[in-house]
Formats: sequence, C-alpha cells, structure tokens
Amino acid sequence: MSTYVTAVLRTDEPPLMHEAVLEAVRLLKEGEVVALPTETVYGLAANALDANAVAKIFEAKERPTFDPLIVHLPHKQQLDLVADVPPEIAQTVKQLTERFWPGPLTLLLPKKPIVPDIVTAGLPTVAVRVSSNAVFKRVCSALDKPLAAPSANRFGSISPTSASAVMAELDGRIHLVLDAGASLYGLESTIIKVEPGSPKPLITIVRPGPLTPDDLKVYGKVKVATRTVVDEATEAPGQLASHYAPRTPLRLLSRPSDFIPEEGKRYALMSYRGEEKDGYLNLCEWEEVMMLSPGNGKLPEAAVRFFHILRRLDELGVDEIIAEPLHEHGMGIAMMDKLRRASRRP
Ligand code: AMP
Ligand code: MG
Repeated sequence: MSTYVTAVLRTDEPPLMHEAVLEAVRLLKEGEVVALPTETVYGLAANALDANAVAKIFEAKERPTFDPLIVHLPHKQQLDLVADVPPEIAQTVKQLTERFWPGPLTLLLPKKPIVPDIVTAGLPTVAVRVSSNAVFKRVCSALDKPLAAPSANRFGSISPTSASAVMAELDGRIHLVLDAGASLYGLESTIIKVEPGSPKPLITIVRPGPLTPDDLKVYGKVKVATRTVVDEATEAPGQLASHYAPRTPLRLLSRPSDFIPEEGKRYALMSYRGEEKDGYLNLCEWEEVMMLSPGNGKLPEAAVRFFHILRRLDELGVDEIIAEPLHEHGMGIAMMDKLRRASRRP
C-alpha cells in the first residue's frame, strides 16, 4: 500500500474551483484516484475504462474485488457507451433517466465490453448514474470519461458526507480530496433494476436511498428487495449483511422497553427528533444524545445528518451506540436498512 500526502482543495470560490478541478483531472488522466463530492456521499473516483486506475480504488478502500462499483457518466448521452439497454425496457429507462438524471438514481443494466470486469466484479451488469454535483460534473465532463466512484471510505465503514470524513477514512492513501461542503442528500444513491412487466414494468429497489418508492411508482410496479444474507449480496453488494458499521457496537431498538442499561456501561443515543414523549431520552444517563432531526422530525433532514452523526457518536468511545427506530417510509427505508446492517458485526 503506497502512502501519500493527501491534499484537500476547496471549491467554494470560482478561482479555487477552477484550480481544484484542473488538479483532479490531471491526476485522473494519469490513472490516479481522487475523492470527489457527489450529491449523495463523497466518492473515490477513477477512470472507469482504465482497469489499472480502478484497481487503485480497491486498494485504497481495502475493498474486496467481488464488490462492484457504480459508473458515473459525464452526461446521460454516454449511457450507450457503457450499457446495452434491452429494447423491452428502453422506454422506461428513458423516462427514468429523463426524470432523475442527473441525480441519485443508479440503474443496473447489461454491460458493454468496454467496461473492465474489475468495475463490475465480473457481473454481466453495470451500475450507472449521472451525478448532479457541480464539482463532480465539472471534473467528469472535463475528463470526458465515465468515473467509477464508490463511497470514499474504508470498506464496510461509515460513508463520508464531508471532506473531513473522507480524510478520517483515507488520509495518506490517496493524493487528493476536493471539498465541496456537506453532501446534499447524505445517503448513497437508490439502485434499481427494471424488468418488463404487465400491465406495468417492474422496478426493484436493490439498495434503498434518497429516491423512494413513491418517487418511482409512476414508472412501474415498485418492489423493495430486502437482502441480508452475504451470499445473496451480488445483487447489490453495498447490501452486505454487515456494512456502514461504526467501530463501536450499535444496537437498533424497536421500542423503548427493548433497552435495559447495564451497570457501569457508557451509552450514547442516536435519537430521531429528541422528543421526551418518544420514550427514549429517559432510558438512562446517556453519555451523549445526538438528534437526526430535532423538533418535528423530518426524514430528508435526518438523511443529511445521518452518517455525520453516526461518525461523531463512534468517536466518543462509548461502550454502545443505541439507535431509535425511524419511520420506515420515504428516506426512512434507507436509514433503517443501514442501521440494521450497522448493528450486525462482521
Ligand atoms: P458503494 O458506493 O461503496 O456503496 O458501492 C457501490 C455499490 O453499487 C456496490 O456496493 C453495489 O451495491 C452496487 N453495484 C455496483 N455495481 C453493481 C452491479 N453490477 N450489480 C449490482 N450492484 C452493483
Ligand atoms: Mg460504500
């Protein structure tokens, strides 16, 4: 494993943005990896058509090569370069990409030979999307190549939603991070599979994310796949049974009465909205309580803060993180899925 001095470049003013984009493009052209902001979480990007560059993503993340990567296109017109859209679903794919690209929707489609096997872990399908993040778009368009970019964290760990979180994960392992502030959604993209169906096409959500079943139901019959076993994981290996895990053990409660504190142990609470009437605040002397969406509780706000708060709670060094359950609708589906996986030990 090579070691680097990792630079973090700001992008919040036009001259800074210009320089940062140039530097990222220079490195990517040389076959290096660069951490880039996206609207979902920060990604670790490499030229998706260069197998050697992509191998560096796996090395920096210590990611097993059976876990495939998402390919991000500079614009939707490049879809035909990497994927063969079957005629039976072409109309639905067109509707979905017109509506949601650029944005947090990833489609699983049959891959074209130009995509190296290392990107798709040897699968016949490729996961594709177009990011709406302004910095990502500039880098990807200037390079004019698809970018493979999984989340910029060590394998199995908490996804980064800020440049400082990327540094906590990958400092010294990569050349460069572009800093564009907090991620807009804070959750990884929704991954779907589209199949022909009657009377409507079938849309299977293989990884829940910012786009919810409600957002997709106009385009087909939506089903959420609930996969938890490791050997079923090839459908979307972000769906490994244990994933998104803090180092501190995490326990997800179903109701307040599930939790009886043990003498002498230190606990921190991940609360949804921090309301006493929900019944969790008084369960013990919490070392720390952090709220995902204080007050009324709004799921999109909770999503933005979700990985950041999980990371902060993990840094406390308590014996256990206790998580309140969230409403399992809208973006709550993705967060509950992640909490379940985070609560399993590898
Ligand atoms: P990450 O951004 O780290 O969550 O990684 C991307 C995720 O996309 C993988 O873990 C898989 O869940 C999913 N993925 C990528 N390519 C494929 C594919 N060909 N088939 C199924 N899932 C995929
Ligand atoms: Mg990931």
